[in-house]
Amino acid sequence: MHTDATPLTIHRVEAIPVVLPLKKPILMGGGQKFDRSQTLIVRIEAANGLVGWGEASAAPTMTGDTLAGMVAAVDAHLGRLLVGRDAMTRARLGRELARAMIGNTGPKAACDLALFDLVGRHLGVSLTELLGGAVRDSVLTMCLLGNPSVEEDVAEAGRYHAQGYRFFKLKVGVKRVEEEIEAAFAVRKVAGAQAILCADANMGMSMEHARRYVAGVADAGLAFLEQPFRDADLAGTLALARTSPVPLCADESAHSIEAIVDWQRAGAIAGVNLKTIKLGGTAATLRAAVVADTLGLAVDLASKIAESSIATAGIVHLGYCIPNLDWGLSPTSHYLAADLVRAPLAPVQGGSPRPAGPGLGVDVDESAIARHRAKL
Ligand SMILES: [Mg+2]
Repeated sequence: MHTDATPLTIHRVEAIPVVLPLKKPILMGGGQKFDRSQTLIVRIEAANGLVGWGEASAAPTMTGDTLAGMVAAVDAHLGRLLVGRDAMTRARLGRELARAMIGNTGPKAACDLALFDLVGRHLGVSLTELLGGAVRDSVLTMCLLGNPSVEEDVAEAGRYHAQGYRFFKLKVGVKRVEEEIEAAFAVRKVAGAQAILCADANMGMSMEHARRYVAGVADAGLAFLEQPFRDADLAGTLALARTSPVPLCADESAHSIEAIVDWQRAGAIAGVNLKTIKLGGTAATLRAAVVADTLGLAVDLASKIAESSIATAGIVHLGYCIPNLDWGLSPTSHYLAADLVRAPLAPVQGGSPRPAGPGLGVDVDESAIARHRAKL
């Protein structure tokens, strides 16, 4: 327990590139196929021997961050800024990290999370407590359906439903639009009337595909369609929003608080997908969530496909603390075939239990990190 003003001096910052296998490939809009995860682990060691851990997924089509670029950002810039500094000044260091480089929100998020973990472990308090405490007792957790056929989407939805999931996301902009409309009704039937059902195009729809899709699924009870068009296409999104019976959500477009405000003011979106890798960290995402709530936007708090239980612990804690989580939590570590902690986090009955213990509350397995270390 921290009981005096002794600084928590940062001795060493290490950026470790990791590649992890997925249990099965996930298809996404625009023809992307994910069968493995590339993710950056940041290890911050203090002079007193305590270690804090952070993580951020590489996301070339979302943040522009590549694994090699993220390692370089930490080695050449962000890590150097931190060495010799007092981690107890975490908030100030977070501001300095944000200003140290343009972009590079992924590596900034990994460093920010490692600082939170280190400070939490030092003080003997959880990330939830560092963020001001929980405002809810449970978080609704999403499962992704991204299969080549409607039959596989429906079968997978059935398996998830049996495990207690009540929140489903269809990856769209992948199949023919008729099949995607059919999948929405078929999954709604399996999921039941009370479940939340939504769809995410990951920028992969044409205007014609999007217009036919939202008209076709009008009676399937979709909570929202996420990111139909390219990240900068505010005009197209607004044109769709004017007549769409399905509310729209921004993800790839919502890379800053300013962008969230602009898109909400334009009337293009009813909600926003928040990720620490886009906003540059846990503290920045908390600020974005407060702004989104103030603007009346629904919030989905999410990981990129796929981050290990280290980053997942970060968003689970955050999910208990942000003011509004109307569109639920989307952790991704349960899609991985290998993890980096001794007791991997997993959803339980369609929710995500809050990890216990100081900092992130996960026991990082350094031998697993060494095993999955990427050769760049
Ligand atoms: Mg998305």
